[in-house]
Amino acid sequence: MNAPSLSIGDFEVHILKDGIYRAPIGDVIHARGEEARRSALDAWGRPEFAVDVNCFALDGPHGLWLIDTGAGTAWGPAYGKAPAALRDAGFSAGEVSIVLLTHIHGDHALGLFEGDKARYPNARLLVPQGDLAYYGDRAILDATPPEKRSSFRTVAKLREVYGERVEAFEPGPVLYGLSAIDLPGHTPGHSGFLIRGDPETLLVWGDVVHLDTLQLADPAVGFNYDQDPGLAMRSRRHALESAAGENWLIAGSHITGIHRVERRGEGFAFSEESNA
Ligand SMILES: [Zn+2]
Repeated sequence: MNAPSLSIGDFEVHILKDGIYRAPIGDVIHARGEEARRSALDAWGRPEFAVDVNCFALDGPHGLWLIDTGAGTAWGPAYGKAPAALRDAGFSAGEVSIVLLTHIHGDHALGLFEGDKARYPNARLLVPQGDLAYYGDRAILDATPPEKRSSFRTVAKLREVYGERVEAFEPGPVLYGLSAIDLPGHTPGHSGFLIRGDPETLLVWGDVVHLDTLQLADPAVGFNYDQDPGLAMRSRRHALESAAGENWLIAGSHITGIHRVERRGEGFAFSEESNA
């Protein structure tokens, strides 16, 4: 089955589904505390959540690029389907010339590896400067409890396997037709990518939202993998306000399909007609 795709500017954008992420509802948090958390969850009414893990292939005039890579084989058989989705879309791993990461978490970065080898042997890696600096810092690593060190290991392995091909990017223009937007909080350097076309612009927003209906309606709902929940909430609001105000199309690592965002009540919602 071919991956869903759409044309934006000079790019054909393909959504590659890597797997499904399941987590207990206990991983949901709320900026205004336990009572607000409980009432948001009661209204939502589900015992667990299960969301897509997506990455994106951008076929453009300067080659084949990926945004994120899925979890690879590191997280078990529920993941690791992105390479097959890439093949189904008509491409080989060797054709990928650039991989951009929204952030360094495992379900976005571990797909870069096939065991101890590079899955994308001809690719340069563009990684948010904020994540490379934070998760590459020895002093911060030493102060971090062992169970929270996986992103530090990922940065070390990126450098080991991809060597000189690992590069940092900052917010602003990064590549032809593509700019990075700083959306910190989920990780220090967490970023979205804006692909500008005419008339449509697409924001690929990474992990701004994990639970679409819940977090659009109430952006104060967070997720305990947000490293700085307050900052992640401000970035979520900023991304939602920008998408609604600018009438951007949006896609995300953990939402299904392509949407438009509109203001609704105190929060936001996906526009009815927007699912591509
Ligand atoms: Zn994620």
